[in-house]
Amino acid sequence: MCIGTTKNSIILLYHLISNPKTYIRMKKYDNCHVNIEQEDIESVVAALTADSISGKGPAVKQFEQDLAHFFKVPHTLCCSNATMGIYMILLLEDIGPGDEVLLPPTAPVMTILPILNAGATPVFVDNEPGNFNVCVTDLQQKISDKTRLLINVPMWGYANNVDRISDICRAKGIKVLEDNSHCHGTRLKDSYLGSFGDYAIFSTHERKLVTTGEGAFFLIRALADYNRLMELRSFGEVCRTDPEYRNVQGAYGFFSGLNFKMSAINAALGSTQLQKLPAKIKVRQEHGRYLAEQLHQYTDDIREITNGMPSEDNYYSIVCKTSIARRARIEEALRQSNIISDPLRYQYQPLYKMPLFAPYASSCPNAEALIPTIFSLPVHEGLSKEELDLFLNIIYST
Ligand SMILES: *Cc1c(COP(=O)(O)O)cnc(C)c1O
Repeated sequence: MCIGTTKNSIILLYHLISNPKTYIRMKKYDNCHVNIEQEDIESVVAALTADSISGKGPAVKQFEQDLAHFFKVPHTLCCSNATMGIYMILLLEDIGPGDEVLLPPTAPVMTILPILNAGATPVFVDNEPGNFNVCVTDLQQKISDKTRLLINVPMWGYANNVDRISDICRAKGIKVLEDNSHCHGTRLKDSYLGSFGDYAIFSTHERKLVTTGEGAFFLIRALADYNRLMELRSFGEVCRTDPEYRNVQGAYGFFSGLNFKMSAINAALGSTQLQKLPAKIKVRQEHGRYLAEQLHQYTDDIREITNGMPSEDNYYSIVCKTSIARRARIEEALRQSNIISDPLRYQYQPLYKMPLFAPYASSCPNAEALIPTIFSLPVHEGLSKEELDLFLNIIYST
């Protein structure tokens, strides 16, 4: 069952309330799996009956506290979606015309669009040959006096060398934003991804590991950044704690901002979905390991991608590398069984091959070589062992 239209949702909601054990799952062999259970419905219903259902409703604060507890960071802040979250960081850093923002050409369009909308210039930094680490040599070449920010995007939840590149950027006064929309719960060196850059944003769109339908959250270290992001999120309403603003707390018209708030109804779903994350991770890790090991035993031609990090666990979907010709055959065979590899779904290509971003093209030969060799397989908790074996048999037949 798929929650598509409002009408369907209402019918489902009625059905779920009258059948408390019903469990929703996406039937397609997709990496989108939303499990709505009784506790999710109760949480949303409780939010609906609270004093406020706006972005200032109590469920938003609660979700933020739950996130801070899970990720063990001082501050978290929800916003309307991760694309807008990236835009908020550009506003916070006052990045605009004349400024350069580094990003990998392997990122999705959602990462680059805010840069163009801020009027800044995107500069593409290549990956290492055959993996998704940022190439340090290329990074050093692409940094200029105009560089203000680097956005790191670990694709499909595989941790990359964000620790190393954050050190390099910090030494040059360049801020780092982790776009961790695939990485809820991924660890690097015993810390969750999100602890390495200056800021981290995680989307909670329905395709991500923690969902609120649409939405996103930040992990933030510095109180001053937190206060200023609060201001940006809500029309510039004064939140900063400097003594000179003590008497104007909550006033408008001192600072600029827009409206990037998440509604309390979405946040209520986030709190219960977050509780499921450890269990999801466990199953996804098992599924990913099983698929990778079976493929490994079957052939030398197909290998799970590796960034060479201490922990290679990832939970979004697994990504394998093969020859260009075999990759095309595998994607097609999978597609015939309704299993759509992410690179196929998104017509994955270096961003600068798309017309809108072509003016910013720069040489990224490693990204160009890597992309046509990879395919992804879903590993989510809604899949059975038989379904994983089906994926394997389809691949064996190519
Ligand atoms: C999903 C995604 C986004 C955008 O998230 P939204 O919340 O849908 O705006 C940004 N970056 C990456 C890497 C994503 O996967």
